[in-house]
Amino acid sequence: MANAGSRRTKFVLDEDRIPRAWYNIAADLRTAPPPPLHPGTHQPIGPADLAPLFPMALILQEVSTDREIEIPDPVREAYALYRPSPLYRAHRLEAALDTPAHIYYKYEGVSPAGSHKPNTALSQAFFNKQEGVKRIATETGAGQWGSAMSFAGAVFGLEVKVYMVRASYDQKPYRRILMETYGAEVVASPSLTTNYGRAVLAQTPDSPGSLGMAISEAVEDAATRDDTKYALGSVLNHVLLHQTVIGLEAQEQMAMAGEQPDVIIGCAGGGSNFAGLTFPFIGQMLRGEASYRIIAAEPEAAPSLTRGVYAYDFGDTGHMAPIVKMHTLGSDFIPEPIHAGGLRYHGMSPLVSLLKEDGLIEATSVHQRACFDAGVTFARAEGILPAPEPTHAIKVAIDQALEAREAGEERVILFNLCGHGHFDLAAYERHLAGTLEDYEYPAEKVTEALAALPRV
Ligand SMILES: *Cc1c(COP(=O)(O)O)cnc(C)c1O
Repeated sequence: MANAGSRRTKFVLDEDRIPRAWYNIAADLRTAPPPPLHPGTHQPIGPADLAPLFPMALILQEVSTDREIEIPDPVREAYALYRPSPLYRAHRLEAALDTPAHIYYKYEGVSPAGSHKPNTALSQAFFNKQEGVKRIATETGAGQWGSAMSFAGAVFGLEVKVYMVRASYDQKPYRRILMETYGAEVVASPSLTTNYGRAVLAQTPDSPGSLGMAISEAVEDAATRDDTKYALGSVLNHVLLHQTVIGLEAQEQMAMAGEQPDVIIGCAGGGSNFAGLTFPFIGQMLRGEASYRIIAAEPEAAPSLTRGVYAYDFGDTGHMAPIVKMHTLGSDFIPEPIHAGGLRYHGMSPLVSLLKEDGLIEATSVHQRACFDAGVTFARAEGILPAPEPTHAIKVAIDQALEAREAGEERVILFNLCGHGHFDLAAYERHLAGTLEDYEYPAEKVTEALAALPRV
């Protein structure tokens, strides 16, 4: 391997190296993505169907097959608050594992919201503002997306209303306070402010809520107000597109390190941070320029890619959002309350699902206690406390490094450290006290939820 003697730890790009265009994988796909369908008619939807929810610039990105989509200057300027993000070589973790593998991680926790999510939140806020939108309605589970969107609203001067899953709203006040500090209005979902929320509460007054319900509320809010659009933090093509700045920067930084990854790993909830790191590399594979092993890491409690079916399904519980073809556990499936809240979604991005179906990526599922063990090992070696979500990627990266040790192989491993865990200390406290539980894959609940797939 080139440059193996180098002891550089941190690979930093100048501000002018912030990418000028996002990479659109749709240009290189072997199979055309199946079209999204209208939730009522089950017919393919066109741009006009999406216009009540999204500004036209984002709708066009959603269906574009141009390989490069220019990043507007105001977005690049906002990115400069924290981009380019650093790439690290994990020398200390390698030493702790006594492995000949080289481990690299791209660190997205340097953003103001503490995760990769501002990469798309800022872009979405900009395109909404440009088309005269005044207000954004959105949902949040653990609060990371809500924080990112609230921050982006403050940057571009948009009102933001966040429907926050009731259970998180009650248990995790700090993310709510961060959103409110950025100027957003936050309500617990299900709420009394939408028809859908009122209907749920009428049936289940003490509903803990779910991401699927909160999406339905935010979609209804946006669809029924002229000044408001909806914003989603993952899953959709344009969201994954905006995240490709991660992988584009990482490609330059790996070149600075004089190495090429053999294995590239990301955790996958809706698929956006995974796609952000891996799509530029997968693009090289699709164009026949390189070959990598690409692994998506999921929780055992919500393993859509590893155990779900590839089928058309609803994106939300209220069946208001478009139906898309994806790996799904069923839209009524509510995963167990694992601490990696960002990975508790019943489906997977259609693009990531398609790549899995085409055999370009692998997926593996991991239990939360093993993930937190990996997170603690990582924190003690590298100093950064990871969010519970990327501990899934860390666990798989450590397994790869240990496998390389057994094989006596100098494997080069790259993973996405997509956020820090400073708002997740209660989960670490439980882990350290030994009271975290693992949840088995809920086969019965999934079978039940899959019976409700739309017949299209
Ligand atoms: C939201 C979030 C995730 C899950 O979303 P993806 O779209 O799969 O990336 C993972 N990690 C962090 C830190 C998050 O905030």
